[in-house]
Amino acid sequence: MSFDRRDFFRAALAAGGAGTATLLAAEPEPAKEETAEPNHVGCLVDTTLCIGCRQCESACNTRNKLPKSTINFADRTIFRSERRPSETAFTVVNEFPGSPSPDQGNVKETFVKVQCMHCLTPSCVSACIVGALTKASDGSIVYNPDICLGCRYCQVSCPFEIPAYEFDEPLTPRVRKCEFCTDRQKGIGANPACAASCPTEALVFGKRAELIHLARDRMAKRPDRYTETIYGEKEVGGTSWLYLTGRPYTEVGLLKLQETAPALRTEAIQHGIFKYGFFPIAFYGLLSGIMWFNNRKENPDSGHGPSDSHTSQASAQDGKGGRS
Ligand code: SF4
Ligand code: SF4
Ligand code: SF4
Repeated sequence: MSFDRRDFFRAALAAGGAGTATLLAAEPEPAKEETAEPNHVGCLVDTTLCIGCRQCESACNTRNKLPKSTINFADRTIFRSERRPSETAFTVVNEFPGSPSPDQGNVKETFVKVQCMHCLTPSCVSACIVGALTKASDGSIVYNPDICLGCRYCQVSCPFEIPAYEFDEPLTPRVRKCEFCTDRQKGIGANPACAASCPTEALVFGKRAELIHLARDRMAKRPDRYTETIYGEKEVGGTSWLYLTGRPYTEVGLLKLQETAPALRTEAIQHGIFKYGFFPIAFYGLLSGIMWFNNRKENPDSGHGPSDSHTSQASAQDGKGGRS
């Protein structure tokens, strides 16, 4: 039986009017930290090999049929500001001053690709109360727009600030993010488009467990080149995208995060809400009301509710370049 947005709101109204007992009867199971299965895929980003050509961005744009950028992919002025993935660019490459590693001291900048990390214990999946975001059998985190409510819990919950929302789409706005090129499972190319397009093999797609071996191997052979951390091996309980860096990862835009998956904490709160008799959408509405009231108090002339930080996400597309 399908369960769409209209059905959900109908159920929510029923719950509000006639009591929440039915919907609250089944309290969800407590969250468990998940580990990578042997068949889980991943991608290793070796930032010491990335030349900032942005062919990965271009390939992602084409593969996902995203709107064509007004800025050419070869225009390197794009690196002047740090960008985040958006609803029109599922991946972006940022530039940081300084060489990628001690043995590349003659290189003046480090490039780092950003996209959904495909967390092993994904907060977005945990936060989605209707199951619009799910974890596929290979570990990819995928999205079903047909049952999405547009509540944007997933945006709030993501520790990497990845899910973007189509605010400009009035009728059927979707949450957009990298889905790890799920069409590769249907035989449209074995690799994600970004990894297939990378000219320097800075992106290596494969089984996550094998990628961790590959990363350790590179670190052992070139200790002068790499730090001792595989970013994503443990952060937020582990992610399918992994990074090798030649400098401390915090210097190249990667966030310092706890090893515990935040999904475990947010689910505990959400389950508490269920347990004490609040239907989450009512709770979310209450929170929104409080935010709106506070915003009115702080900005009495604005006439608007709370601003949404995600609306200011830089739309982040464009083309390719190349380190000279
Ligand atoms: S990075 Fe964010 S959007 Fe991607 S799987 Fe993790 S929690 Fe979900
Ligand atoms: S895996 Fe696919 S959707 Fe994700 S960043 Fe790469 S090309 Fe884009
Ligand atoms: S295609 Fe490869 S080298 Fe070029 S920007 Fe992307 S990750 Fe870096």
